[in-house]
Amino acid sequence: MAGGGNAIRGSRVGAGPMGEAERGEAAPRQAVTYFCAHEHRSVITFSIEAVVPESWDCPKCGLPASMDSDNPPPAPKIEPYKTHLAYVKERRSDEEAEVILDEAIQLLRTRRKSGEIIF
Ligand SMILES: [Zn+2]
Repeated sequence: MAGGGNAIRGSRVGAGPMGEAERGEAAPRQAVTYFCAHEHRSVITFSIEAVVPESWDCPKCGLPASMDSDNPPPAPKIEPYKTHLAYVKERRSDEEAEVILDEAIQLLRTRRKSGEIIF
């Protein structure tokens, strides 16, 4: 019988030192809370070096959100009820929004590479 099996037990699998903890410590961050007209509260994390914008699009509903909880930016457009035409328009703008979102994501990825904004 050569040795015991205990030597292997000490090493962890999966939770190496290269995990998320290191990523968080590498770049100091600041958390900023934004409030939208729908009373969503969104905490956005920026790099400590980033210039924090005064407003941010709410990740939950897309409305502009500000840091002032008592005075969130108003919704850009208010529709009391939807007509058929409004539905058609909305569907079209949804498609456009997707394209815009795609571009925004690309932009974010580029920015994230340079370390400007950390989500
Ligand atoms: Zn919202």
